[in-house]
Amino acid sequence: MILNPGIAADSGLHAGTENLRLDRVQWRAAQAGQAPACRVRFHRYLPTAALGAFETAGHALRVEYCRRHGIDIVRRVGGGGAVYLDPGQLCWTLTLSRRGIGREKNLAAWLELLGKAAAQGLRAMGIDAVFAAPNDVEVNGRKLASGFLMLSEAALLYQGSLLLDLDIESMMKALRVPTEKLSPDGVRSARGRFAALHDGGVRLDDTLIQEHLLAAWAEQLGIEFFRPASAGPGPGADDPAETSLVADWDEEDAAWHQTFVKTPGGVLHVRLQLNPAGDVLERAEFAGNLHLAPGNLLSMLSAWLSKTPLARLDGRFEEFFHTHRYDMLAITPADIRRGLDLALDRRAQERRFSLSGGQANSLMVHAPSGKAVEEIVREASVMLVPYCAKPAWCKWRHRDGCPECGRCEVGEAYRLAREHGMRVVTITNFEHLQRTLAALREAGTGAYVGMCCRNFYLKREYAFREASIPALLMDITGSNCYELQQEDLAYAGRFQVQAHLDLDVLRRVMARAGSAESRSVSVATRGKPDAGAIEKREGAAAEGIAEHGAEVRGPVVVERVQQVFDVHPGCGVALDAEPAAEEERVRILGAGGKTPEIIDRTADAHVGAARRGGLQAPALDAEINPA
Ligand code: SF4
Ligand code: SF4
Repeated sequence: MILNPGIAADSGLHAGTENLRLDRVQWRAAQAGQAPACRVRFHRYLPTAALGAFETAGHALRVEYCRRHGIDIVRRVGGGGAVYLDPGQLCWTLTLSRRGIGREKNLAAWLELLGKAAAQGLRAMGIDAVFAAPNDVEVNGRKLASGFLMLSEAALLYQGSLLLDLDIESMMKALRVPTEKLSPDGVRSARGRFAALHDGGVRLDDTLIQEHLLAAWAEQLGIEFFRPASAGPGPGADDPAETSLVADWDEEDAAWHQTFVKTPGGVLHVRLQLNPAGDVLERAEFAGNLHLAPGNLLSMLSAWLSKTPLARLDGRFEEFFHTHRYDMLAITPADIRRGLDLALDRRAQERRFSLSGGQANSLMVHAPSGKAVEEIVREASVMLVPYCAKPAWCKWRHRDGCPECGRCEVGEAYRLAREHGMRVVTITNFEHLQRTLAALREAGTGAYVGMCCRNFYLKREYAFREASIPALLMDITGSNCYELQQEDLAYAGRFQVQAHLDLDVLRRVMARAGSAESRSVSVATRGKPDAGAIEKREGAAAEGIAEHGAEVRGPVVVERVQQVFDVHPGCGVALDAEPAAEEERVRILGAGGKTPEIIDRTADAHVGAARRGGLQAPALDAEINPA
């Protein structure tokens, strides 16, 4: 094999900004085709939060924390997500001229080749490392190293970091969504997701690690490395304009219609501005923890779409991807278009729900079949409320239900839902959400509304996607478990701080919800109820079901449905095992102001049957059944 020459050097410990400067010099030299064909610079960082090439600081970092603690914020040359770097990690920047080397390879193929080589080098030292697509090296399923790539026609740059020591606390505090990729299976500590070498008692000399990594890359790339006397990255000064952070996005900025889309390749953020008439796309911008090539793909797309009449947007968008060379890792033009459409829909949401721009931006729309938000709200028959919005002292905090005592916003949410005939479920932990969504899907629920924090939706979007039920989710405000780094407690239902519902948004949205009558639940049919359903009950409950079915006619509204977990067509209603004292009865109301009945909960928690001889009528409840 003909070997290309390569240079390897260790430039030591530097601040993030200085390491970035050195990376940029190295990257420019590689793109200019300067010899040698391959250059590897090993280095370490003083505490630094390194954004991916396409990320904004506000989306990825706790910027205030970083500033307060003197943590440098830099934007890497390579794509991917933000990482926290400190002296406990051995980092490298590998640049390679693509002239004659792997020109046919794309982002995914290069990440795999270079990541597998890194794992091979570590294995040669007795570490049980394997490559984990798309860009990690793991030991027993725990992350040991990560790699990030930038690709151009002429060159590639591969940045990576190997965990020797792990300062998990600083990492969690510096990164805003640090665990997005770290806890795929639920409640696991972030530390448990990493495998720092020193934690495992492995202490290896830096030079030894470097030599093994170089040997593996040399073998895969056909490079022969030598170490020059000087560790410099090559001639050239940095361009200050390149190292400055691009303007950050203010998620609350109502001047932009903003949204995000979760894709297999990362989270794509989109923001745009329309002309006053709303028929021309003035500007659109894109960001995300993505791997894309070329490095200016998103800015080219922004420029391409600028000033496009909406009537021509389809053609213009498609034309861009037909006329430009691009490589996107696990994200497609259709994903970008979906983000654009969701952002475009913000203006309509503002009008439909009388929301401000900022309020519309806080809505999270899950519309698997493209259902319009207005339709979702009109058809929603269920409201999901997070337990974290209930006060810590409330006995209902970790239970489904709320007797609407009026001492927190959740009570108002329950009242609004009741007014519109919606069933409410307080989600008490992540597994409960999964069970609830599965039950809603099973029951054929057409749509639901809900509240949760944006970070939860981003991280657990797959649960909503799997349920495949159209939903409108409203962001919550105040202290949330992400800001307090208590996600694990929150998922287990043990988070103790109170978040807040945005009642203004909720009221405006609920004003467009379907009426109580349209939420009527038909619990009775003419004649005898379904025998199979009766068989599921025993004793008094079965008798009650039979009797009830014989008496009640037509649709009924089941009030305070949060206490009800089981409605059998034609058979009756079963109560939660632990209802509040004042909730131990169910009021069944005739539709359209017909005589209501209140029936008491029986000892076995099943609602008793309606009495023969007509319904007893306490005073009509004007609130829910106006005469
Ligand atoms: S309104 Fe409901 S959730 Fe809020 S404090 Fe009262 S009972 Fe608890
Ligand atoms: S703040 Fe925490 S507990 Fe509340 S919705 Fe978000 S993830 Fe769930």
